Amino acid sequence: TIMAAILSIQNLSKQYDSGFQALKNVNLEIEEGEILALLGPNGAGKTTLISIICGLVNATSGTATVGGFDVVDEFRKARSLIGLVPQEISLEPFQTVTNALHFSRGLFGKGRDPALIEDILKKLSLWDKRDSKVVELSGGMKRRVLIAKALCHEPRVLFLDEPTAGVDVELRKEMWEVVRQLKADGVTIILTTHYIEEAEAIADRIGVIRSGELLLVEDKDLLMRRMGQRQIRIELM
Ligand code: ATP
Repeated sequence: TIMAAILSIQNLSKQYDSGFQALKNVNLEIEEGEILALLGPNGAGKTTLISIICGLVNATSGTATVGGFDVVDEFRKARSLIGLVPQEISLEPFQTVTNALHFSRGLFGKGRDPALIEDILKKLSLWDKRDSKVVELSGGMKRRVLIAKALCHEPRVLFLDEPTAGVDVELRKEMWEVVRQLKADGVTIILTTHYIEEAEAIADRIGVIRSGELLLVEDKDLLMRRMGQRQIRIELM
């Protein structure tokens, strides 16, 4: 079956004002409904790549489209198709969980939809906490609120920037389960990680990024087999 590319990145490069070259001619096509894990060490350029696609950082050269919309020239249309779960927990501490979700949807100019918010809260096992203030939640629940917020405007592509960095094993597995469920709902997911086990556990394809270069993008099973046969070695740290 031929699937449409929901995300297309062409010859994308980024040089920061400091002169640092954070991305070098990155090309990538992502099909609707797949999970791509972007694997790379600190400073590889993962967050820079996500930031460009989300319109937070300008590329030095190259283009990216989401759902066919250019992320610069058609920013609003492209951005409305994207859910972003940032690396840092960025929540209003005294907002209730439910209000945080309604607010997030409102930011995209979408009308109130309590049934949708209820659905998202239940999907992320946050229903019992819907009236709690964010400040009262555990770290794992805060991460789930971040994901829930990113889903409220019904994006087709979800970026998860190191969703399990500094998280214990139990919570990591819980996050993996959440990601699998979202995939089952048809959301396309791009997640960044330092952990090859994480990529192996949830991705359909794995991209390896290092020093701003996308070294390879390959079907997960093929890549793991080649690594097992030592035809390829990935040094991450
Ligand atoms: P991590 O895994 O640590 O989050 P990353 O792969 O997401 O790393 P980026 O955050 O994209 O990497 O950073 C890539 C490189 O670009 C780093 O060396 C970083 O120091 C540099 N960089 C990021 N933002 C800026 C900036 N605003 N100005 C200059 N250099 C920057």
